[in-house]
Amino acid sequence: MAVDVLCEVSNCTYWDEGNKCAADRIYVVSHTGKEAGDQHETDCKTFQPEQH
Ligand code: SF4
Repeated sequence: MAVDVLCEVSNCTYWDEGNKCAADRIYVVSHTGKEAGDQHETDCKTFQPEQH
């Protein structure tokens, strides 16, 4: 299922104007390795730092 992903991480390779994510899919994980308790415990694992 394709959904629009809005993202503010503008230094990611997949980031596009208008806070759009241009990746075909993203993988979101709980970075604690356990069940996430709130939004601060989730991360986009698809993030790739933009190369300068
Ligand atoms: S891959 Fe993740 S961090 Fe990168 S623009 Fe998309 S949602 Fe944001």
